[in-house]
Amino acid sequence: MDNGTEREAIQRIRGRTTQYVEASTTTSGALCSYGSVAAFFPTFAVNFSPRPSARARPQAIVKNMTTELLTSPYTAIEPEPLGQSQREGVARALLDWYARERRQLPWRLHGDPYSIWISEIMLQQTQVATVIGYYERWMKRFPNVAALAAAETEDVLHAWQGLGYYSRARNLREAARKIVASFAGRLPESIEELRSLPGIGPYSAGAIASIAFGADEPVVDGNVVRVLTRLFCLAGDPKRAPLHGQIWALARALLPSGRASDYNQALMELGATCCTPRAPRCSLCPISPHCAALKQDRVQEFPHSAPRPPVLPERRAAAVVVRRGRVLVVQAPARAPRWAGMWQFPDVELGADEAPSTRLEASVKSSTGITIAAGASIGNLRHQVTRFRIDIEVYACRAQTGRARAIDYDAVCWSPPEELPRLAMPAAHRKIAREML
Ligand code: SF4
Repeated sequence: MDNGTEREAIQRIRGRTTQYVEASTTTSGALCSYGSVAAFFPTFAVNFSPRPSARARPQAIVKNMTTELLTSPYTAIEPEPLGQSQREGVARALLDWYARERRQLPWRLHGDPYSIWISEIMLQQTQVATVIGYYERWMKRFPNVAALAAAETEDVLHAWQGLGYYSRARNLREAARKIVASFAGRLPESIEELRSLPGIGPYSAGAIASIAFGADEPVVDGNVVRVLTRLFCLAGDPKRAPLHGQIWALARALLPSGRASDYNQALMELGATCCTPRAPRCSLCPISPHCAALKQDRVQEFPHSAPRPPVLPERRAAAVVVRRGRVLVVQAPARAPRWAGMWQFPDVELGADEAPSTRLEASVKSSTGITIAAGASIGNLRHQVTRFRIDIEVYACRAQTGRARAIDYDAVCWSPPEELPRLAMPAAHRKIAREML
């Protein structure tokens, strides 16, 4: 069977315009299952290659190839054919919809690079509704790169407290200092220079370059992944190869030149407000005529996701140590794996059979030099940090002897309870301060 006959046979079987294409081994070596998809990847040199057995048993090989297209890891992309005019149709529909429906968000008022940068970092794994308040307070406190660069780490952590992922706040400050030192206080425009800044990865660089500077750069976040995997019925784990790279290539290929700022925001907005994880509003979706998952009634299948790692329980005891009306708080070391640089009540992880009060007394003594007597439990709380589910039992403790020293911490202090809100504290310890003192 020659290449053309083979393609025609597949087309008959699939009943639509499909082609078997193999990317040249001079490129990434990845396979695309459809010729039309290869058009999205202009850097791929596309070769049509008959399999040897096809010459012997044409019907069998067509069947095998069809099976392969459906099961090979390289058949992750299985969209309906989508030519240039349809791609333009998708882009136009999205841009028109965005012009009508875009949400009025504070960082969209001015669109300056600093605002875009701060909002994009805050929006990672946090809902827009939550971010708005944080963003507005942040901009009052650190209105520009220079103000952020000049701020103390503790002030930056304080402004960030409650958003979690505190390394992001530290990276923002470090990046601001680098922008002042190396880029004359202005965010750089190129992807490479943006990527050289602490805390800026492929997503953030693409978002800043396209939204703030109008560069033709794609963005791929969770919302974009959801829309594209549904639009094209892309199977596979979008966090891993080959689909991860294919989605980035697809996002780039779909980008309408010169409209990246609005287009990227439109795609993300669609994922956030319309193509939502559990109840997508397909009847209101501007690109529904092009959506393969909707046509095939498979919307809930996409995106595929790997099983979540198991949640790990962690048992801790925390000490509220009071002396002369003040309470003991400690600052976690700058390199601590959790809550680095933040203030908290002294606490300790408990082994399976350990008695909390004995362990807590020993821990406070060795880490601060204070001898305490642990009293009754005054409450407990449960808190989730990444994949750890932390149960903290809180004990009222009395200081007996010793002068507080920062043995295992960066700093210790006896704080009046009313001063605690001024300290940067993780949410769990903020809750202890608010509810148990
Ligand atoms: S039609 Fe539905 S599933 Fe498809 S992109 Fe739109 S909202 Fe998502």
